[in-house]
Amino acid sequence: MEHPENSEEYKGLTVNAGIEQPSIVNPYLKLRKKPKRREFTVDEYVQGIVQGNMTVLSQAVTLVESTKPEHQAIAQEVIEKCLPYAGNSVRIGISGVPGAGKSTSIDVFGLHVLEKGGKLAVLAIDPSSERTKGSILGDKTRMEKLSVHPKAFIRPSPSAGSLGGVARKTRETIILCEAAGFDKIFVETVGVGQSETAVHSMVDFFLLIQLAGTGDELQGIKRGIMEMADGIVINKADGNNIEKAQLAASHFRNALHLFPTPDSGWTPKVFTYSGFYGLGIKEIWDMIDEYFVFVKTNGYFEYRRNEQAKYWMYESINEHLRDSFYNNPTIETMLAAKERDVLNGQVTSFVAAKHLLDTYYQLLK
Ligand code: GDP
Repeated sequence: MEHPENSEEYKGLTVNAGIEQPSIVNPYLKLRKKPKRREFTVDEYVQGIVQGNMTVLSQAVTLVESTKPEHQAIAQEVIEKCLPYAGNSVRIGISGVPGAGKSTSIDVFGLHVLEKGGKLAVLAIDPSSERTKGSILGDKTRMEKLSVHPKAFIRPSPSAGSLGGVARKTRETIILCEAAGFDKIFVETVGVGQSETAVHSMVDFFLLIQLAGTGDELQGIKRGIMEMADGIVINKADGNNIEKAQLAASHFRNALHLFPTPDSGWTPKVFTYSGFYGLGIKEIWDMIDEYFVFVKTNGYFEYRRNEQAKYWMYESINEHLRDSFYNNPTIETMLAAKERDVLNGQVTSFVAAKHLLDTYYQLLK
């Protein structure tokens, strides 16, 4: 290489040519190929799941969560074939704001229900998981004891984008878990509103975790969420917080009295407990057991599941129609232009929508 420093002008300064840099990759390193995960056939998936094989179950759930059409096709077949083995479980939704103590509580609730035998799956619905790159709900590290329990299966929220998509995947995962012999299903969600409705549409019992505040805790919680609850539990009733928690419980009891009796005929109960110290756990679960006896006797259990099945049929139709419309290449290109026209006031929203839909229907012909 030419070194200008070696020219006559710069007497007294010489620069050697230098040596070539060695490769940054160790030449002796043998690149080991990552073992390719074996692809199962639909029947192998179903067989593995029904036999309770956790590895196969996990892989099947990954397929359910995948957005690839070829994965979805297999997943749907697997779900279909698992359906006859599913349904035999109690499904419990657990909701609360961040910090309410969901993971601490699920850890102790989980151990409590597993004492009587059976298997528990903890799933989650967190529509923000795509934005935050991974859900913190249903995260194994947050449930120390359950995560090492051989009879527990913990799966964080799928990050499918829309709440509807996330919820559908969780609902499908419930079917796979049940087929794998999980007779207790917890579905965790953050207490922020819409995700509760989604969870409510797939569980038999909805448990709301609350904290004692300054006496006005009822203000922050939406009436709609309270109306969905089959049980409200006030966490962190320990130390010098016990009295506050009991006061909060009586506020909730009073508020619930003002609501009409739910369709189930079950009056929601309010308890205080401490997830951290494991206090009051038995009382909560005795109440939940009592609920199941109650609704199985009066037929509401069956009714609610049927209603949910109906709801999910319509949800699926809606989702498919929406996807088919918005993913249509012609519509995709037209949308931006139409949006501009609407913003410029050149056409009304309704005319633009009609034009787009008419085009879509024409394309279907
Ligand atoms: P999550 O965000 O709802 O899952 O809440 P966590 O389970 O992570 O709990 C949030 C914080 O509250 C943690 O620091 C817990 O240790 C604490 N915590 C949870 N349950 C209790 C309880 O029963 N009593 C007390 N004092 N603290 C608790």
